[in-house]
Amino acid sequence: MQRKNKADEAAKAAFLKKVAALWPVARGTVSLVRKPCSRKACRACASGERHPALIFTCRVGGRGRCLHVRKADEALVRRATENCRKLEALLAEEGVRLIGSLREADAD
Ligand SMILES: [Zn+2]
Repeated sequence: MQRKNKADEAAKAAFLKKVAALWPVARGTVSLVRKPCSRKACRACASGERHPALIFTCRVGGRGRCLHVRKADEALVRRATENCRKLEALLAEEGVRLIGSLREADAD
């Protein structure tokens, strides 16, 4: 049992170390959209071309959110969404490891 606790603590420490490296993190999607503006007689809007804008969409408490992302922040926000994918993969792997370790404990 002592050995199992040590193995569990080591797994926890390894997991937390990996999680710490996944910062910043954000669950959502960065997309380039074309939005109309409020100016009258805007040629870009009149032609249907409109104006490019970066948006971050996500769900918070079941509600969809859509936030503007400044061009200067694009790389950081994209990295945060990529970290989210890595974190989700890590969580799934951790579930597999947990079930495997519980089966090993049963076999003892
Ligand atoms: Zn316009």
